[in-house]
Amino acid sequence: MKIETQCLHEGYTPKNGEPRVLPIVQSTTYCFDSTEHIAQLFDMPTEFMYSRFANPTVDAVEKKIAALEGGVGAMCTTSGQAAILLSILNLCGAGDSFIAPATIYGGSINLFAVTLKKLGIECIFVDADAPQEELDAAFRPNTKAVFGETLANPALTVLDIEKFASLAHRHGVPLIIDNTFATPVLCRPLEFGADIIVHSTTKYMDGHAVQLGGVIVDGGHFDWTNGNFPDFVEPDESYHGVSYTKAFGSMAYIIKARMQLMRDFGCYPAANSAFLLNLGLETLPIRMRQYCANAGRVAQFLENHQKVKSVNYPGLATNKYHALAEKYLPEGCSGVISFTVAGGREDAVKFMDHLELASNVVHVADIRTCVLHPASATHRQLTDEQLVAAGIDGGMIRLSVGLENVEDILADLEKGFAVI
Ligand SMILES: *Cc1c(COP(=O)(O)O)cnc(C)c1O
Repeated sequence: MKIETQCLHEGYTPKNGEPRVLPIVQSTTYCFDSTEHIAQLFDMPTEFMYSRFANPTVDAVEKKIAALEGGVGAMCTTSGQAAILLSILNLCGAGDSFIAPATIYGGSINLFAVTLKKLGIECIFVDADAPQEELDAAFRPNTKAVFGETLANPALTVLDIEKFASLAHRHGVPLIIDNTFATPVLCRPLEFGADIIVHSTTKYMDGHAVQLGGVIVDGGHFDWTNGNFPDFVEPDESYHGVSYTKAFGSMAYIIKARMQLMRDFGCYPAANSAFLLNLGLETLPIRMRQYCANAGRVAQFLENHQKVKSVNYPGLATNKYHALAEKYLPEGCSGVISFTVAGGREDAVKFMDHLELASNVVHVADIRTCVLHPASATHRQLTDEQLVAAGIDGGMIRLSVGLENVEDILADLEKGFAVI
């Protein structure tokens, strides 16, 4: 099936007489005929047992997203942050490190630099565009993963996924890609060598700003028996000595994440949330194409505007990442643009406060056009140095172009420009 068809049909196929639409199974528990049957599930949870691990509605959505990314399995979480946290904790413990570019999402920077550090896990931040020797030099004997964003939020740098995959693999560790902004409609990082995909489904996948969510997708290709990941190979005492690689083969990563981390942290979404996410996924391809078309027009308009100092949208031919975008995002660069107004921080705030159609929200990738001022919102926690490293200027505005008629979006932006 092509992706448009997968978005509608993967994950749930009704049998004779069953509902056409994915049912919401709003139940925490599942009945079994015998105590012995339940005892077996505690050894090896192969069926629905308790909705902290798995639920039929969520399971259908997990199967759909795994298919969209071309992975072997997926696990949904209550937020993108939870997905990112678990994707790292499944590989790293106290005393380990991992590598990530400094241009990633502010929430991830904070998680990596502050909270994971308290747990004894160190994130080594690198410049994604640095030459290979410099990137190689960042690895330590305790480095367990490389992390990056296909299209960084809000820096909009495009990651050279193949370069990062071969870098990670040379050092015997997997590449985790946050594919939130691209979605599998615009880029499937597993096809370029990535091993694990994470998403904030809160953004384009849900698309309608109705609920938070995240997902981890396992590509199924990484060799966990290479000596760097004994937790995958050696018996897990908390599951009666199961070896994830022996018992689950190519699905070792995602099943370990569910059996150990979801069991213990419990950040599993409700059935109703998965139902809503599924509605968003059904129209994802058609929405992504229109986001790309609208954002392309808006980016050109901004590039030609005299009150704009710079526009950052990899779809523009003048953009530093245009060549990488043509390779990794050939169908378009999604709907998010960042631009810097000529007048700096004060003018950026004034501009935003005079928009009428575009809402000023802490959100992005919504069906409605919205704006955000990264320096005073998502990246507020960062020091001036970190702001520069993350590519954030005080005059920078993150514009998430929605699916309104593009003429209405342009007219609204003119209202903001008129007051600065
Ligand atoms: C929003 C976002 C996250 C965090 O997701 P939540 O669903 O808000 O927890 C992570 N990565 C990227 C790229 C994001 O845009």
